[in-house]
Amino acid sequence: MPQPFIIDAHEDIAYNVLSFGRDYTRAAEETRRIERKSNSPTIAHNGNTLLGWPDYQRGRVAVVFSTLFVTPRRAREGDWDTQSYADFNEAHRLYSAQLDVYHELTDRFPDQFHLVGSRSDLEAVIAHWQGPDAGPHPVGLVPLMEGAEGVRTPSELEEWWERGVRIIGLAWAGTRFCGGTREPGPLTDDGRALLKGMADIGFTLDLSHMDELAAHQALDLYPGPIIASHANAAALVRGYTGNRLLTDDIIRGLLDRDGIIGVVPFNRFLDFEWKKGERRDSITLTHLAAHVDYICQMAGDARHVGLGSDFDGGFGVESVPADVDTVADLQKLGSILTQKGYNNEDVANLLGENWLRHLRSNLPA
Ligand SMILES: [Zn+2]
Repeated sequence: MPQPFIIDAHEDIAYNVLSFGRDYTRAAEETRRIERKSNSPTIAHNGNTLLGWPDYQRGRVAVVFSTLFVTPRRAREGDWDTQSYADFNEAHRLYSAQLDVYHELTDRFPDQFHLVGSRSDLEAVIAHWQGPDAGPHPVGLVPLMEGAEGVRTPSELEEWWERGVRIIGLAWAGTRFCGGTREPGPLTDDGRALLKGMADIGFTLDLSHMDELAAHQALDLYPGPIIASHANAAALVRGYTGNRLLTDDIIRGLLDRDGIIGVVPFNRFLDFEWKKGERRDSITLTHLAAHVDYICQMAGDARHVGLGSDFDGGFGVESVPADVDTVADLQKLGSILTQKGYNNEDVANLLGENWLRHLRSNLPA
């Protein structure tokens, strides 16, 4: 049996291209070599990369939810950090430039990357991966806007949809739409108006980073599809404090809405007592499998969990489980789940088919 394909629901590709000039058409190992050789500050700022097109091929990563990731100026990390905004016009410009990155990437390298905005785009990509030929196969990119402040008014949602955005998360830090990571708070009137506009058009809502109160309100209010593209179960994480991971209540809310949760192989989200710079051998993909299993037990099936690696999103290979060297190693999660008693169909669902089902149901024809 061939390995199942993977769908990864969260990678900050455009952010890396614009911040660090990373070239994801080449292998992670090649990018690491080039950055090491030039003593690139990127390694200190964002770790050694985990991503590259040849790694997608080896790991059978068929589709990536590729983010527009931009932060408010108060969270700026230094002069190198070009992707932060002081006001909404600047946010609009930065988010827009990141979306352009995906258009350019897919225009320039059509054999390697395809923009996925519709079911027919999706089926064309998946047919490559499921077909008899050995590859290479194009990787589908589904644009996801993280933080939403690039949308100055709900009337602009149509334009973002036309340009390819299909998923929106209302928070990173807190936004004018709702409370976010380390900045708790409810949905605001602007947030409610944005949700209404999103539902009218058919966007998927990403609850990741939303404060628990705001996430509860959104679960009650939003009639459209809801996911958490990248978040783990807070209850399983040793020493965890904060509002970034998912409480059992929110997980239940997502399951009630037939949502899917992308689990994150980031050591701090698996063991909060693990600190950046520490050796990583105490953490493996077995820890990630525990989150998969926990949510599957709550759901009573294996149809509501997927992967949302967040690779290269502020951390690199130094901060992921010891058995992961690049994104291709996420395939190893499959055999760990098999040992836990999951059958081949479950494993295929968890690695990619659950996200595929979500996309098939929610992308426009
Ligand atoms: Zn994030």
